[in-house]
Amino acid sequence: MNLMSETFFGGDTDYENSNIVIFGAPFDSTTSFRPGARFGSKVMRSESFGLETYSPYLDADLTDAKFFDGGDLELSFGDTKYALNDIYTLEEKILNDAKIPFMIGGEHLVTLPAVEAAFKKHNDLRVIHFDAHTDLRDDYLGAKLSHATVIRRCYDILGADKIAQFGIRSGEREEFSFGKKYTNLHAFNFEGLDGVLEKFKNYPVYFTIDLDVLDPSVFPGTGTPEAGGVSFIELLSAAMKVIEKSNIVALDMVELSPHYDLSGASTAVALKLLREMILKLGK
Ligand code: MN
Ligand code: MN
Repeated sequence: MNLMSETFFGGDTDYENSNIVIFGAPFDSTTSFRPGARFGSKVMRSESFGLETYSPYLDADLTDAKFFDGGDLELSFGDTKYALNDIYTLEEKILNDAKIPFMIGGEHLVTLPAVEAAFKKHNDLRVIHFDAHTDLRDDYLGAKLSHATVIRRCYDILGADKIAQFGIRSGEREEFSFGKKYTNLHAFNFEGLDGVLEKFKNYPVYFTIDLDVLDPSVFPGTGTPEAGGVSFIELLSAAMKVIEKSNIVALDMVELSPHYDLSGASTAVALKLLREMILKLGK
C-alpha cells in the first residue's frame, strides 16, 4: 500500500537536505479585475502529478532535485499588511537557512515582502521582472499596496537602475516613461535581456515571473489577460538564460488564476515552466 501526501511533483526531500524551498502564497485581495489567483498554488500542486518528472530539455529529473515543498501559507484575509508580513517572515527564514525560496502566487503583490526580505540580506539586490504589465503605479485607486503598484514599491526599496522589466505591453503613459528612466523597461518581449544579464552578473538577483507575460492564447488562466504576449518557448528560454547567467537568491511565479481556464492548460503551462526552473536552478 502506498500512502502519499500531496507535494509539488511528489517531491520528498526534507527541509534540511533541500536547496530550494517551494511554498504557496494564496493571496489575491488587491486583484484589480478578476480575483482567483489565491487558488494558483493549490491547483498547481495537485495537477503537478500529471507531469513527467523527467525533462528532455535539460536531461534531468526532478527525482534527483533537492527541493522541499513547504505547502501553502495560511494568510489573513482583509488585512493586506498581516498577509505580507507572514510572507516576509517565511522568506527571511528560508534565506537565513541558506536556501533559495521559490514562492508560488497568488497575485503579484506577494512579491513585495519577498523582495524586502531578500534586500535585507543582500543590500545590492537586483530584480528581474517578466510581466505584461508595468506594475509601476504609485497608487491604485488610492492604495499604495496593490498588484498594480508592486514593482514601484520594489523601486522605492532598491532605487534607480536596480530593476529590469521584460515583456511589458500594458500600463499608463507615465508608468512607461518612469520605467524607461528608472527600471530598465523593455517592452513586448525579451530583447535586451543579454545586456541586462551582463550588467547584473555580479549581483544577487530576485527573479519574478508574472505569468500573464505569456500570450492569453497560451495562458488564459489569469486575472488580467493582455493580448500580444510571448510564447511558452520564448518564456522558457528567457527564464533558462536568467537562471544560467545570474546569481539567483530568491524567485517567484505569480498570477495563475486557474478557474478562468476550464481546460486546465494554463496550469499545465505554469507547471512545465516550474519543472524546468527547478531543474535548472539545481544544475
Ligand atoms: Mn504583475
Ligand atoms: Mn501582469
